[in-house]
Amino acid sequence: MSLKSFDLNISNLGRWIAIIGVAWLIGTVGLGWLVNWFLILVGLLILVPVLGFFGFRFWLQSNLIQDNCPVCHYEFTGLNKTQLPCPNCSEPLQVIQGKFNRFTPAGTIDVQAVEVSSQSRDD
Ligand SMILES: [Zn+2]
Repeated sequence: MSLKSFDLNISNLGRWIAIIGVAWLIGTVGLGWLVNWFLILVGLLILVPVLGFFGFRFWLQSNLIQDNCPVCHYEFTGLNKTQLPCPNCSEPLQVIQGKFNRFTPAGTIDVQAVEVSSQSRDD
């Protein structure tokens, strides 16, 4: 009789330990996940702008070129593979292979403009 009740107590105790253990495990794992997600989220919130900033800086450094304007020889910086006007003489320039080039070859735009205007006048 006493042995049977002892068995019952052990199984009861074991069940309670199991329930508490599982509850503790769920709580710990759940909290761990929560903490992990929170850390991941915070980490992403910090890392993304930092990585973006450094990525942008790296991109800027590898794409930022310094050269002289081919028209007025004014030195300034521009982005690679872009078109921009010279800040000094406002000549439209194109950045090709890290060098400023005139957007159109010298004289071409004037000749084309004259041809177009004379043709339109003839018509
Ligand atoms: Zn210029």
